[in-house]
Amino acid sequence: MIYDIATISGDGIGPEIISSAKKVLAAIGKKYDAVFNFEEAPMGGIAIDTLGTPMPQSSVDVCKKASAVLLGAVGGPKWDNAPVRPEKALLGIRKELGLYANFRQAVLYPELKFASPLKESLLADGIDAVMVRELTGGIYFGERGYRIGKYGREAFDTECISELEAERIARSAFELAQTRKKRLVSVDKANVLESSRLWRKIVHDINEDYPDVTVEDMLVDNCAMQLARNPSHFDVIVTSNMFGDILSDLMAALVGSIGLMPSASVGNTSAGLYEPIHGSAPDIAGTGTANPLATILSAAMMLRLSLNMEEAARDVENAVKKALADGYRTPDIYTDNFVKIGTERMTEVIISNILI
Ligand code: NAD
Repeated sequence: MIYDIATISGDGIGPEIISSAKKVLAAIGKKYDAVFNFEEAPMGGIAIDTLGTPMPQSSVDVCKKASAVLLGAVGGPKWDNAPVRPEKALLGIRKELGLYANFRQAVLYPELKFASPLKESLLADGIDAVMVRELTGGIYFGERGYRIGKYGREAFDTECISELEAERIARSAFELAQTRKKRLVSVDKANVLESSRLWRKIVHDINEDYPDVTVEDMLVDNCAMQLARNPSHFDVIVTSNMFGDILSDLMAALVGSIGLMPSASVGNTSAGLYEPIHGSAPDIAGTGTANPLATILSAAMMLRLSLNMEEAARDVENAVKKALADGYRTPDIYTDNFVKIGTERMTEVIISNILI
């Protein structure tokens, strides 16, 4: 089979980690007789510099005709004061591709227990949770403005949740919960926000179509506390765009490093967008030390969800587990007595595990 994959390498460590994922996919191609044709779609800061806009139409077109999109990260201090920021491309491409559900997988590998900031006693039952985050609505897309008010300058952003957005993300979460432990935690702020009250009502209405799944409502502040105190309580979590953005970084920290957490964004077609949840890490860009595993695991999610290559996806995930079990560590997850390696060497280790 031949697959057209659009890559958005982006900025900072983006090109380094996308290069790793492409090499890993090439190895998978060799093993499974598949060809991946990669086409770069410049977006983010690099696109501002070279094409004058963070999301050029030509790049959107490349993504739209691909079987799937693999994204590194965009942004960095160089563009902090740009009239249109690089991150605009992230929100824009998700919207252009109709991707409304973001799945963020947090798994604590037993070998990395010590890399979690939590006490070992809290990790006895491990962590294996998926955050399902609404991606195209909420405060990141709501009405915003800037004005002079009674007490000086004022700025505002609006959280608005539509029935369509809440319903389809709830369905994605219920369907996932059915394939797992049939438990869903729905996170909102219904004690204060009108938008959360509608969210909660819709989640419970949709629950009637999935009677085998038990829903637990949790306020977002309590959820942050429970994640830190009792992470094994969670299996599938569903929440709005901003709450999901914030809580998933906390989940990444719990499993050892933001450099380990992959994500998939999907909509109504099989063509999804796959990316690590971290940013462009400008502080380590160019040092060859970035952890490529979140991007490699995102490529595994792409194999599974967009290309229907389940066995190949498991191969990649097992190669990552074996690399960790064999003691290989990038600096972000390194502690004494392990083998400290950089991005390129980690990539080689994963490839050799795949081709064993
Ligand atoms: P960040 O995720 O880039 O970095 C936070 C910390 O984690 C840094 O210390 C960084 O070195 C470390 N880190 C991140 N990824 C790592 C990896 N793979 N291996 C090892 N260490 C890693 O977040 P930030 O510093 O807040 O943001 C930097 C830039 O990235 C900003 O411009 C921000 O807007 C952008 N950003 C982009 C995305 C995206 O493209 N999806 C997401 C978040 C932030």
